[in-house]
Amino acid sequence: MSEMTRRGFVKLAGAATAAGTLGLPHIARAAGKRVVVVGGGTGGATAAKYVRMMDPSVEVTLIEKNAHYHTCYMSNEVLSGERTLDSIQFGYDGLKGHGVNVVMDEVTAIDPVAKKVTTKGGKSYAFDRAIVSPGIAFKWETIEGYDEQVAEKIPHAWKAGPQTALLRKQLEAMKDGGTVIIAAPPNPFRCPPGPYERASQIAMYLQEHKPKSKVLILDAKDKFSKQGLFTAAWKKFGYNIEWVKAAEDGKVLRVDADKMTVYGDLTEHTGDVINVIPAQKAGAIAQMADLTDGDWCPVDKGTFESKKHPGIHVIGDASVATKMPKSGYSANSQAKVAAAAVVDLLNGRTPGTPSYVNTCYSIAGKDHGFSVAAIYRYDAAEDLIAPVKGAGGLTPGDASAADFAREVQYAHSWFNNITADTFG
Ligand code: FAD
Repeated sequence: MSEMTRRGFVKLAGAATAAGTLGLPHIARAAGKRVVVVGGGTGGATAAKYVRMMDPSVEVTLIEKNAHYHTCYMSNEVLSGERTLDSIQFGYDGLKGHGVNVVMDEVTAIDPVAKKVTTKGGKSYAFDRAIVSPGIAFKWETIEGYDEQVAEKIPHAWKAGPQTALLRKQLEAMKDGGTVIIAAPPNPFRCPPGPYERASQIAMYLQEHKPKSKVLILDAKDKFSKQGLFTAAWKKFGYNIEWVKAAEDGKVLRVDADKMTVYGDLTEHTGDVINVIPAQKAGAIAQMADLTDGDWCPVDKGTFESKKHPGIHVIGDASVATKMPKSGYSANSQAKVAAAAVVDLLNGRTPGTPSYVNTCYSIAGKDHGFSVAAIYRYDAAEDLIAPVKGAGGLTPGDASAADFAREVQYAHSWFNNITADTFG
């Protein structure tokens, strides 16, 4: 090598190293290791963060349509005035700090063959594996007269944010002696105890501020989650709550927004504030990307890889994760299982057998909470996420007042922990 050439070589090598620190080797490292996460809610944000933490050489892009996320968990406390909407709002700076490339845009298509995601903003993002966590969509067609426009007058508040603020405003404006109707959805839906926690929180607010008012729950089901604990709390606190089950014509079939009236098969009820929570299905993009079979997305429950399109993992409410309930804690737990599987698969390893966890807290009074908890293990033979016997359980009905009060503290502490784990 001549002197000139040697110098040229050294210069070139130096330039490569400098450029490397700025990103070239990063691109080289990331080849074959690009993950696109669709949806930056509880499942998606957790998955994006944990893929980066488990393997920093993976290039992770998270695409979320909203600049901020409002947690549904604790949104019932916003309705009773126990907390502000701001206290359940989270942003994406924490994820950026983990090296996640956060994009604010709406995903309009996922191509499982070309392995790319396209957005409303006209961009496209190639992936080696995708993780999809779009949450839920509503089956508007199941209630005549109810749709997205009517929801501006009769809110669902089942996606937290402006809908929560609207329902809270209506409750504040309602006269004393008014009736609040809550139409509870059929199974399966996000947060099985949620409608009944909501009824409790609203009744608690009314008892203090508008004591002549009542809450009427019209239910599309004949029984509900933690029913014994809820009904005992309603009795204990003397809440004015009436529950009408499906067998007694509780299922709402039609809504007349002008008359503020809801109709069952045989009966009708007029309310001053009406909260209709419609039947649910996987978020729209899951339907559009052909990840669904019927309403929800079938997955390999050990890795959350779609049974319809390999290379795409679906987690959270949108997935069929029997026997886990559709909850934020489930979405967070599933995100970690999926992140570990994705990192293993990208690195040529076989994913192990996962465990999962879920606890659902409900706050039925200022110092009165309860929970249901479970640890799960993947059961490949039964194709189930099976609860581990003896791990977990339900708050006993005869718990002491101090225990019920402590469950409220646990619930608030859980909220601080899960939001820090997901967005921090
Ligand atoms: P989400 O958290 O809804 O996230 C979906 C995200 O995807 C959203 O941010 C959305 O904007 C985005 N998105 C969708 N489509 C696109 C697209 N095409 N492009 C870009 N972005 C998109 N769970 C608990 O564990 N504990 C509780 O106490 C609890 N309380 C609840 C109370 C209420 C009133 C309700 C309604 C729910 C409650 N939940 C609770 C349930 C919990 O909120 C959900 O199960 C959880 O949010 C599911 O997470 P996810 O990631 O599947 O969906």
